[in-house]
Amino acid sequence: METKIKLNVVHILAIVLCVFLTNPKLVGQNSDSLNFSKESQHFKFYSTNDDMIVLDSIAKTLERNYARITNHLGIQIDKKINVKVFPNLKTFHIAMNYPDAPDWVVGSCNGDELMMVSPLNPGSVHTYASLLQVIVHEFVHMAVSYSRGDKGWTVLPRWLSEGYAQYEAGQINDYIRKSVVASLKEKAPPTWAQLDTLSAMEFGNMNGYGLSVTIVEFLVVTYGLDKLVLLIKEPENIEVIYGLSINTLEKQWIQYLKHEQIE
Ligand SMILES: [Zn+2]
Repeated sequence: METKIKLNVVHILAIVLCVFLTNPKLVGQNSDSLNFSKESQHFKFYSTNDDMIVLDSIAKTLERNYARITNHLGIQIDKKINVKVFPNLKTFHIAMNYPDAPDWVVGSCNGDELMMVSPLNPGSVHTYASLLQVIVHEFVHMAVSYSRGDKGWTVLPRWLSEGYAQYEAGQINDYIRKSVVASLKEKAPPTWAQLDTLSAMEFGNMNGYGLSVTIVEFLVVTYGLDKLVLLIKEPENIEVIYGLSINTLEKQWIQYLKHEQIE
């Protein structure tokens, strides 16, 4: 029973806080205790000695997803990406300069580094397996940032950024779809613009991750991945790219969720 509740919490709150910190002074207080431990074709890993045994799993997971994600976005990354594995939530949250973060905050992409909590010590919300999805999610954020060049990552609508990261990391399932549909019965969903005005914590607490990944899934299933990638590069042109108003797209998303015919 306890396990089931734990999994449900993971699915509802979904995933992670993704921070794209631009000020290097804000981070790194704890990074000194992490040593260079391993490298793979596209990544370099830093961890404590105790966490070295999980680096193979993390490296294999990232490498298995690397080509698909970079191909989808049409990019080449010309250097190895640093991945820092923190031994527990406390050291990770301090390194993020966010010492009181809730337990569901377990990964971030920080400039051109990825940071995560060790899957050996996932805390009260996540599991070993869900942390392996989290690091792929964080890599997607970084890849999206590369794909946008000078425009970077932060000006993307949050629903698009978080929705796409979850979509590529395989963080959608029937439980999430059903939780979003159930929430529609209680009240009208936020508009996509409203999802963008929330703080990161509000977004997480109101199932913003779940809502976002269903929006991205709807757009990909209905209109294809090429248009979504175009949207990631030019989100301001959403109505041109889809040939529809945002209002119509939002209505179609609800129809998609309810398995109604899209008009
Ligand atoms: Zn994210």
